[in-house]
Amino acid sequence: MTRKPIYADNAATTPVSESVLNAMLPYYKEFYGNPSAIYKTGREAHQAIENARKKIADIIGAGPMDIYFTSCGTEADNWALKGTARKLRASEGKKHIITTKIEHHAILHSCEALEREGFEITYLPVDEKGRVTAQQVKEAIRPDTALVSVMYANNEIGTIEPIAEIGKVCREAGVLFHTDAVQAAGILPINVEEDCIDMMSVSAHKFNGPKGTGFLYCRRNLHPETFMDGGAQERGHRAGTENVAGIVGMAQAFEDAAAGKAEWAEHERKLRDYIQKGLEEIPDSQVNGDQDNRLPGTLNMSFPGVDGQSLLFSLDLKGVEASSGSACASGSLDPSHVLMAIGLPYTMAHGSLRITVGRYNTMEDAEYIIKAVKEVVAELRG
Ligand SMILES: *Cc1c(COP(=O)(O)O)cnc(C)c1O
Repeated sequence: MTRKPIYADNAATTPVSESVLNAMLPYYKEFYGNPSAIYKTGREAHQAIENARKKIADIIGAGPMDIYFTSCGTEADNWALKGTARKLRASEGKKHIITTKIEHHAILHSCEALEREGFEITYLPVDEKGRVTAQQVKEAIRPDTALVSVMYANNEIGTIEPIAEIGKVCREAGVLFHTDAVQAAGILPINVEEDCIDMMSVSAHKFNGPKGTGFLYCRRNLHPETFMDGGAQERGHRAGTENVAGIVGMAQAFEDAAAGKAEWAEHERKLRDYIQKGLEEIPDSQVNGDQDNRLPGTLNMSFPGVDGQSLLFSLDLKGVEASSGSACASGSLDPSHVLMAIGLPYTMAHGSLRITVGRYNTMEDAEYIIKAVKEVVAELRG
């Protein structure tokens, strides 16, 4: 097999774009100084970080001092949850957190760690499309609730949550609201003021930026508890020499995404819908998630009678790279917690396939994917 694989796992990560790579290179080659240093190569690096902070803040309707750079989305999630929970327990005796059953493991496992520290967590159920309502959040809020964390959009099925409504409920109740926007950022327009978001996690590699770079938006005066002790970077809240090139690359990717958003979303939606239509011809197939409120590039389908892992192996042999459930959960034989939470029977959850198209996919890719999946499902069922 000599053809280049067709990459259809853009929810797991995305390729770095030319413009992002070009923006990053000078910060490896020329401006390699430590941003804390006073000489020119350091000052240039420092200036680049502050420019990136401003660009990112402008795009989400925040101030530059509300942006804290992190090493990834997972770090931002851990910081938001653990930092806030521990701080509010110490200062106000609050020990309750509200989240959902379909969060990424960065959130769910952080919550489990907090449970071991004595926090109480409410995991809200979702409906069969993967939606949670603001009313559910409202009813779950208690006097000792420290934080609500609901993801902006789900990484497995693409369902978009009613974030502005949830944010409003939290603001009215005086409870902090965090959202894991790792799947949504760079794809959906997000304004932290309009959505009443107090904290938000974002990761560059999900929107054609580099891996290993993310940020936590934290509304001013909120001051998250210091997460990494050490130097004075990130206003003393997150020590460690900054990933200068990564930060520059993330800002470039975020800017490119903001400029191209509508066009790329339309492109992805067209390809996704085309693939969905093709694969719906497979007998007994089913689309999972919310077809009215869904990320434009995400398609999650079940093919009962087929084992998800075997499906992925066979597709890989045909040169199609996709996923079943989240990349973090694959390798384990447990069906995805998201598919279980939307009420799929075990056999449907087990035979699931996630195809996530990105801005570099083409109509030829879509045609090939349909053909390959149809052949593989027929073979595996036969
Ligand atoms: C990818 C992802 C993360 C983790 O981000 P990393 O930068 O890979 O650590 C967190 N939440 C969601 C919803 C994701 O899709």
